[in-house]
Amino acid sequence: MATVVEGAVIAGEKSNPPSVDYYRKCESCGYVSSSKYNTAALYHRYNSSFRCPKCGNNQRIEIRG
Ligand SMILES: [Zn+2]
Repeated sequence: MATVVEGAVIAGEKSNPPSVDYYRKCESCGYVSSSKYNTAALYHRYNSSFRCPKCGNNQRIEIRG
């Protein structure tokens, strides 16, 4: 089961192959993206980042599988 460390909200997950759908979340202002994103294969850890369109914060995304 995937766990969000920061910067995301889990929308759904599949186990075979392991992948996660998530929404981007800004930890600074609470913004959550309306569109879904996907990690193609989440085995151990997924890292990414995005710039928040609301407050401009450069938010790190970390999800552990
Ligand atoms: Zn923000």
